[in-house]
Amino acid sequence: MLPKITRFSLSISHSQTGIRARVIRALVRVKYPDGLHLMPLRLSSLLPFLEHDGGLYHTEGGLNAINRKMAELIIRNGGSVKTKTTVQKILVKDRKAYGIRVDDKDVLYDAVVANADFAYMATELIDNDQLRTYTHEKVAKKDYSVSTMNIYLGLDTLLPFSHHQIVFSDDYDDYLRKLSKGEFTDDISYYIHNPSVIDKTMAPEGKSALYLLVPLPNMTSPKDWTSYQSHIESLVYQSIKKKFDIDLEAHTLTKMIITPKDWQDDYNVYQGAVFNLSHKLSQMMYFRPHNNFEDIKGLYLVGGGTHPGSGLPTIYQSAIITSKYLEKG
Ligand SMILES: Cc1cc2nc3c(=O)[nH]c(=O)nc-3n(C[C@H](O)[C@H](O)[C@H](O)COP(=O)(O)OP(=O)(O)OC[C@H]3O[C@@H](n4cnc5c(N)ncnc54)[C@H](O)[C@@H]3O)c2cc1C
Repeated sequence: MLPKITRFSLSISHSQTGIRARVIRALVRVKYPDGLHLMPLRLSSLLPFLEHDGGLYHTEGGLNAINRKMAELIIRNGGSVKTKTTVQKILVKDRKAYGIRVDDKDVLYDAVVANADFAYMATELIDNDQLRTYTHEKVAKKDYSVSTMNIYLGLDTLLPFSHHQIVFSDDYDDYLRKLSKGEFTDDISYYIHNPSVIDKTMAPEGKSALYLLVPLPNMTSPKDWTSYQSHIESLVYQSIKKKFDIDLEAHTLTKMIITPKDWQDDYNVYQGAVFNLSHKLSQMMYFRPHNNFEDIKGLYLVGGGTHPGSGLPTIYQSAIITSKYLEKG
C-alpha cells in the first residue's frame, strides 16, 4: 500500500530578512504490521532531497578559497586583515560594545562584528554582568549539536571513492539514537570526502587530498580523547578495508586529526559542538541569538551559532543580514 500523505500549509514572514515563505508540512500515513501510523514528513529531509536532485557546488581549491577572495575584497576596499591573532575580550560598558582586546591592548571601534562560535564568545569573551538573555549560566543550559572527529589525509594516489560518500552503521537507527543521547558506539557512520576526483588543485599531480568525518558526541560526554582518537581511527580504517578492500594507511603521506576536544581547545568551539546550538525548534531561526545582538548594543553576530542557523548557505545569509544592520548604522 502506498503511504497516504495529508498536507497542510502555513504562511510565515520574517521581519529581519523580509522573507515570506509558505511552509508545506505533511503527515504521512504509513501502514505498519500493527496498524496505520501518522508520521511527520520532516522539513529537514528537504535538504538531502535537493542535494540529490539538483547536485552541489564545489569551490575550486576548497572552501578556504572563498575566505581568501573575501580577504582580497576587504583589502581592495581599504580594510585590513589580521590573522593568527586571538581576540582576548570584547570590550563592553553599560551593555554597549566599544572595542576588543588583542595582544593585551585595547583597540576601540564604533561597532564589533563577532564571527567566533556564539556560545564560546558569550562565555569567554564577554563579562557575565553585561549579558541578559545569554548569561553564561543560560548559555550552559542550552542544547548543543553533535561533534565530529575529522581525519585529513594527503595520499600518494587517487582512490576510487566518489566525491561525497557516506558509510552507514550496520544499525543506523541505533547509532542516531545513541548519538542524540551523547552515547558512544563502535558501530559508527562516517563521511568520505574525496574532492580530488573533480578538482586537481587539491593535491600535487598523481596524489590526492581526502578527509573522513565521524559524527560523535560532543564534550558534554566525557572521553579520554588521547586514547579514543586512535580507537576511532582504527575503526574507520578497518571498515574501509572491509567495505572497499583499500588499505588507507599504506597510501597515507600526511595526516591531521581533529577530535571533539581539539575543536573545543584549539578552535574555540563551545563543547566541541561544531554545528553549534542544536537545531531544535526553540533554538532555530528567530530563536537563535540575533545578528543585531539583543544583549549588547553595537555588537553584531555572524556564524552558525546565530540567526538564521548552521550550514554554510545559512551562515553567509547571516553575514548579509549583519552587513545590512551595519549599513543602517
Ligand atoms: C567538520 C565539519 C564539516 C562541516 N560540513 C559542512 C557542510 O558540508 N556543509 C555546511 O553547510 N556546513 C558544514 N559544516 C558546518 C558549518 O557550515 C561550518 O562549521 C562553518 O565553517 C561555520 O562557520 P562559522 O563562520 O560559524 O565559524 P568558523 O568558520 O569556525 O569561523 C569562526 C572563526 O572565528 C575564529 N575565532 C574563534 N575564536 C577567536 C578569537 N578569540 N579571536 C579571533 N578569532 C577567533 C576562528 O579561528 C574561526 O576562523 C561543517 C562543520 C564542520 C566542523
